Amino acid sequence: MELERQLRAGREALDADPRGDTIDQARNIADRDLVVTDLNMASGVLERVRHALREIDEGTYGQCRRCEEAIAVKRLRALPWSRFCVRCQEAMEEGLELLAS
Ligand SMILES: [Zn+2]
Repeated sequence: MELERQLRAGREALDADPRGDTIDQARNIADRDLVVTDLNMASGVLERVRHALREIDEGTYGQCRRCEEAIAVKRLRALPWSRFCVRCQEAMEEGLELLAS
């Protein structure tokens, strides 16, 4: 709910008319970019949190999507929206690095 409130506030800031002289307008545009970046990040987190909440409803929360093992509680505390266990996450990251190299 806090995230949704922040997103709303950010969108309202974007909708507000830029006023004032050119310097203010330039500053507004810079602020706007920052707000857009923040909004994009907040939207991503919100989406992941919503997803985690849905999984809690379905009873699949904390389960790795890849190997279906339980994700370590320590990991879930640090990253509540983790979708994969540490082992799978690392395996996938290594896979990506191999693809990139
Ligand atoms: Zn796994």
